[in-house]
Order: sequence, then structure tokens, then C-alpha cells
Amino acid sequence: MMDKVAVVGDVLMDLIIFMDKLHITSGSYSVNDYYFLPGGSSANYATALARLGIITFFIGKIGGDEFGRRLVDEFKKDGVNLDYAVIDAESKSSLALILIDKRMKRASLTYWKTYSSLKLEELDLSFLDQVKMLSISGYSFISNPMRSVTIQLIKLAKKSGKKIFLDPCPCLPRHGLNLLKKTLKYIDIITPNRNELVMLTNTKNLRASLIQLQRAGPKLVVAKLGSKGCIVNDEGKIMVVPPFDVKVVETGGAGDAFCAGLTMGLLRGLSSFEAATVANAMGALATTKVGSRTALPSLKELRDFLEARKNILGIENILAKLG
Ligand code: ADP
Repeated sequence: MMDKVAVVGDVLMDLIIFMDKLHITSGSYSVNDYYFLPGGSSANYATALARLGIITFFIGKIGGDEFGRRLVDEFKKDGVNLDYAVIDAESKSSLALILIDKRMKRASLTYWKTYSSLKLEELDLSFLDQVKMLSISGYSFISNPMRSVTIQLIKLAKKSGKKIFLDPCPCLPRHGLNLLKKTLKYIDIITPNRNELVMLTNTKNLRASLIQLQRAGPKLVVAKLGSKGCIVNDEGKIMVVPPFDVKVVETGGAGDAFCAGLTMGLLRGLSSFEAATVANAMGALATTKVGSRTALPSLKELRDFLEARKNILGIENILAKLG
């Protein structure tokens, strides 16, 4: 059971389109470039964990179409375990159309019907006996039946002593958000970005929101701050963790990679500050190529990245603990 993680959530294909300006009304537009790549916040996170050598089960619904076959192939290539995933021959896979303009502004249009149609009776729950941690994406709260499946899984996992990791999402409908707030008492680790912190606590004051969120349940709150790195509230102890300096190409998936770094660090026995440093390294690396998974490193590549920065205080200790 040692290091195994079950990831429950979203999986889809991303069609990423680069264009000059995001202003779109009726008419035709020329675009500068496009990429068709696997995505989905939970699926990216599962992939990042598997590449880092953590045994990872993906629990979610994939369509039986051509896109679904690509999603399955990519998971298999990266070593994500699909023994408990649901492949629905009748459904088309979920899809996101992501528009990015020259100023890096993003808009996404998502067909999430397939992944969010997951029902409890479609799952073999024995994966819960095998894992140490259950990781949930806020996207699982977007709509039912996935929303209620997620809540039931959280309760079952909690009962059997699993750690629960939650990465919220920025676009929840009111009902989903209210349910997510009620679920916070079951969560051990939460990783909101700035917007999600405000959404969850109704305060724009960073420190106050970190304290409030920690009191609502999660012992460990790690807030993602984009190019500023992250800030940790570990049972009331607040620490700022500085970012790594990289040449940013495209930021999609940085948050997912960050969460995988944090998870791996905590599973390997790093302190919360050290695990958040690994998370910052993973997030920074993810921004160096187009696509959410393109720049996700293997453990060796992550080690090489840290090795090249071992003059930074604490990195040598982290490298020693990562083995
Ligand atoms: P989300 O995608 O969830 O909004 P962020 O954009 O905050 O998440 O990115 C997650 C993490 O990735 C950050 O906390 C940071 O560690 C890393 N990161 C993101 N953008 C940059 C950047 N420009 N330079 C260095 N690190 C970055």
C-alpha cells in the first residue's frame, strides 16, 4: 500500500488554439497554431505522479471513441494503472477547446458530460483497499452523478483511514461549491490558487483566507501563487515558498504538476516546506512547453533540475530524502 494513490476525476482531450486576440463573435478567424493533446486536471496529475514513479490508479470515465483510445494509450505509455477506470463504449470522450491569445489570456469551452456521468455502481471499489491516498479534483464537483460519487468515495476513504487530497477548481456552480465547502472537514491536504481561496473563504486577504481554510478541515493548506511560488499553512504555521526561475512558454497544467510534486514529496516523508519546494519545481517545469503533460518530468529529470539548483538552501536535503 506504501505509496499508492487513487486519483478520481476528469479526463479529456485538449484542443489548444493559439491566436492573436481572444475577441470572438460570428465570422472566420485565422489562428497561429494548434495542438491536440491529452488533458483533464486529474488525468494530468495522475500522469505526473506515475512519471515520478508513484503507483497511480486513475478512477474516471473515458469514452469508447477515437479520442478515448488516445487517452487510454497515453495513460498506458506513462504507466498510469487503468484497472479500475471505466471505458464507456456508448459515450464520446470529454473535450476542451482552449483558446490562448498573444497576452497568454485563456478561454476554455468544455464538454464534460462524459467524465461527470460516472456512477458509483460502475466502479469496483476494491481500489480503496490498495491505496494510501485518495486524490480528488474540484472538477468532480461540477455536476451529478460524479459529484455524489466523489462525496461517497471521500467518506468511504476517510472511514478506512486514507489521506484525502483535494485540488479545487475555479469554475464551480453554486450547488457544487456549497457541497465542496461541506466536504472540507474530510480533507487532509488542499491546494487552492488565489481565485479558489477567495471562492472558498469569501476573503481577499491571503493570510486570513489561509487561516480560515485550515480551520475548516484540511491540516495542510498549500496555496498556488503562479509566478510567485506558493504559501503553506501547516497546522497554523505559515511559510512562503519561493518559485523557481524558468523560461515560461505556456502555463496550462502547472497546477496539476505542482500537486503531483507536493503529493510525491509528502509520500516520501518530506516536510511540508520541502514538499512545497518540490511542488514549485514541478509547476515551474510544466510551464516550459506547450501542453499540460508535455514537460512533466521523470523522477530523474526532476532530480537533475533540483541538482542544478542545489546551492539553494534546503535542496540538498530534499535530494537526499528523495533517494
Ligand atoms: P493553477 O494552474 O492551479 O492556477 P498556478 O498558475 O498558480 O496554478 O501554478 C501552479 C504552480 O506552478 C505555482 O504555484 C508555481 O509553483 C508554478 N508556476 C506557475 N507559473 C510559474 C512561473 N511563471 N514561474 C515559476 N513557477 C510557476
